[in-house]
Amino acid sequence: MNQVAGMESAKWRRKPIFLAMALFAAYAVIFGIYAWYTAPVTVLAEFAGTAADPETYMTPEQIAKTESLRGWRRWFAFVIPAWEWLVFWVLIAGGFAARWRDALERLRLPRVLRYALYVLLVWTAASLTALPFHFANQYINVYHGLAAPAYFGWLLDYATSFVLDYVIVLLLAGTAQWLMSRYRRWKLKLWLIIVPLGVFYVFIYPVWIAPLYDTVKPLSDERVERAIRDLAARANVTVDQVYEKEMSSVTNVANAHVTGIGSTFRIVIWDTALRSWSDEELLYTLAHEMGHYVKQHVLLQTVYELLGALALIGIGGWMYERFVARWGPRWGIRKPSDMAGLPMLLLLFLFLMFATQPADMAFSRYQEREADRYAMELTGSAQARITQAHKFVSAALQDPNPPLLYYWWFSTHPSYTERIIYSMRFEEERGRK
Ligand SMILES: [Zn+2]
Repeated sequence: MNQVAGMESAKWRRKPIFLAMALFAAYAVIFGIYAWYTAPVTVLAEFAGTAADPETYMTPEQIAKTESLRGWRRWFAFVIPAWEWLVFWVLIAGGFAARWRDALERLRLPRVLRYALYVLLVWTAASLTALPFHFANQYINVYHGLAAPAYFGWLLDYATSFVLDYVIVLLLAGTAQWLMSRYRRWKLKLWLIIVPLGVFYVFIYPVWIAPLYDTVKPLSDERVERAIRDLAARANVTVDQVYEKEMSSVTNVANAHVTGIGSTFRIVIWDTALRSWSDEELLYTLAHEMGHYVKQHVLLQTVYELLGALALIGIGGWMYERFVARWGPRWGIRKPSDMAGLPMLLLLFLFLMFATQPADMAFSRYQEREADRYAMELTGSAQARITQAHKFVSAALQDPNPPLLYYWWFSTHPSYTERIIYSMRFEEERGRK
């Protein structure tokens, strides 16, 4: 009798797994076709031959490389999240979620330790099974000459982010499930705990703590510093100090950023930027960053994210409770606070975060457009925006005009083609005045 029941349960558990695998395979094929056969590296006919046309600023070899690379990039971007959902689903429907909990309960460990080990098992399963995808992604970058073939260092980075993510998942899920076991209104309480953490992460850490570890020295080029201070004065921003940071031993990517508020406002320029950017490009970049500052984007973004977190916890938490009430007995999840529910909790939240990503990206692109506009008005020119986009797209083999779905889901900035066209219009308007 028992054996028959056991066999039966093994049988009906196989079906949802195979179904999910078939869905994943179909999704991967559809997005493969989408990734390779949409939006070639070119522009609308009306912009042919202008600064927005990749053929005017990229070599045929760079265009060919970008076309081969962008297919992979797009495909991995869509497929890796779906793969993670599949893994969590297999843990649930395959009975691993309940079996691992039972095995750990037999060890008679303290509850906190048992929970930490359980999260470690689940997170290791997710990270190890996703490793081949991430490795292939890195291999593609190496193959196209964008990264050095330093796989050991890469693996070390992967391990580091594994540990960091593990700690974050442990703290967040642990707090959530602990609250579930104790309080009815756990969702609101969880959010109230997250708010000060978010504020710390956005306002206190970068302003007061990160600079302590930042190895910077005052900018050595007085002429550049004078130009920067002049720019800041026009933006009505008081600059405490302009720093340069040695980054050329780590990367050849150029960057410059601003941090702090009020009296702690500081500008940090990477030495790579001092070498590869013209004065106009450096000033334009800083004007763009000051645009973010003047327009209060950090504050706006924080409010947006905290409200988003409230909605996510509310909806995700509600779905999770419904799921456990309805399907819990079938998958061996006893109640919402049972640690065997963790894969379901992760699956739901990762899925919801992915589903709402287009809203986050649209909000981010809105801020970037505002900062671009601000920088053009402050510096009085958009020429630097154009030359910088040309350099960056061809050096980093960026996709100048990603297709719509990719743009909606993953573009934090307007596309380079869009930004160049916008700059050209600004220059045209300026010429008319
Ligand atoms: Zn920006």
